[in-house]
Amino acid sequence: MLLTPEIVFKNVEAIAPAWLQSQGITALVLDVDNTLTGDGSQVLDATVRQWLDAVHAAGISTTIVSNNTPRRVAPFAEKIGLAWVAMACKPLPVGLFVARRRLGVRRRQMAVVGDQLFTDRLAAGLFGVRCLFVLQRGPDKSKGVKLKRKFEPPFVQKYYQKGGVLHE
Ligand SMILES: [Mg+2]
Repeated sequence: MLLTPEIVFKNVEAIAPAWLQSQGITALVLDVDNTLTGDGSQVLDATVRQWLDAVHAAGISTTIVSNNTPRRVAPFAEKIGLAWVAMACKPLPVGLFVARRRLGVRRRQMAVVGDQLFTDRLAAGLFGVRCLFVLQRGPDKSKGVKLKRKFEPPFVQKYYQKGGVLHE
């Protein structure tokens, strides 16, 4: 099912670079709001900075793909030093198509990291790449996201019912 998470992490910091390497993942497509930082926030937590440095040191490339506006995404992406795609229209796979060409990898080497099942998880599934689902870093701000969030719990429950665990 394209909406059930394949794997759930507490946050991005819990995604170990060595684990990514063991899975053959060499490129990450990163969501911004409630994945790398809070919803609408420009704050970069030191722990996220360290995680990004460790990921890059492990030879894993990264790019940002967000549904939010360039005005929101560009300053944060520049602060991190990452290339970005805004207005990506996830779950449509168009942003992932751009990202994959930019990253120059095969689909099996690429994974989407994001906090929403109806955008990040579904986009990854439709594009045929893995999704590393993370719990949201903080509260949602936009009405649209709040609405989609209401429909997530049954799919997350299905993951746990099938024996999935929260990776911390
Ligand atoms: Mg998000």
